[in-house]
Amino acid sequence: MHNAAFRHLGIEASYQAWDIPPAELAAAVARLREPGVYGANVTIPHKLEVMPFLDEVSKVAKTIGAVNTIVNRQGRLLGTNTDAVGFSRALGDVGVRPAGISAVMLGAGGAARAVAYALLTAGVRLLLVYNRTPARAERLARDFAALGAIAVVPTSELPICIGAADLLVNTTSVGMVGSKGDDLPLPELWLPRQGVVVDIIYRPSRTRLLREAQAAGLTIQNGLPMLVYQGAESFSLWTGEQSPARAMLEAARLVLESLPS
Ligand code: NAP
Repeated sequence: MHNAAFRHLGIEASYQAWDIPPAELAAAVARLREPGVYGANVTIPHKLEVMPFLDEVSKVAKTIGAVNTIVNRQGRLLGTNTDAVGFSRALGDVGVRPAGISAVMLGAGGAARAVAYALLTAGVRLLLVYNRTPARAERLARDFAALGAIAVVPTSELPICIGAADLLVNTTSVGMVGSKGDDLPLPELWLPRQGVVVDIIYRPSRTRLLREAQAAGLTIQNGLPMLVYQGAESFSLWTGEQSPARAMLEAARLVLESLPS
């Protein structure tokens, strides 16, 4: 999608995948300081470990605990995180304005921290977190308590909390290609009575959770808009240009459709 954006704007640049072992991280980051390099994305396992090699880390990246974007500003490297912006913008596409709503979030991993940041800073009335490993949900709730009303929900109260929620977000990897096929990220199929269900998984394009939610008449969204919008935000930070999000979405969709399911 980034190469599509470069082509769309007539910028002579290319986006490349670098497979960097942990021992070579410092050297790889140093190469980003060169003139002519816009920056980079960072993914597992370097999202936290990269921080000491940067000149500045944004507040959002520190709070989320992960850098996903590095921007080269004349040899100075800024680390930030665009997942929360990406998630917020994606919510807008399905008409969700988080201020004042109640949300249930499934999962407490890295992506959950970006989603929690986005929802709490946008003013959700209450964010309830459910995770297979409750201790991780407790940790997330503690880390984000200063940003707004967040609490961990036990399994016994989950059906009633989901039923009353305006928004249900799956941030777990359950249902993703490569995981156990048709599994649900919940002990049972519990859905909101009305509102929106988002699954930030983008492969497959519709997880079982989304298919069931759609069959129940709820509005659904998969993870592709979040993926594209986080990329669009990174692209703007690198180039200073307005990102061609539609061209990026089409490019990403074409690639995903060409992959085996
Ligand atoms: P992560 O840090 O490894 O967290 C994984 C989460 O899934 C944890 O909450 C984990 O629970 C839960 N989980 C895993 N297997 C489970 C199972 N069998 N039953 C119940 N819960 C299970 O991963 P991540 O980086 O947050 O990514 C999570 C998903 O989000 C992935 O599918 C990824 O592709 C997607 N994602 C999408 C975007 C986007 O832009 N759309 C961005 C980032 C991530 P425990 O704590 O109990 O292990």
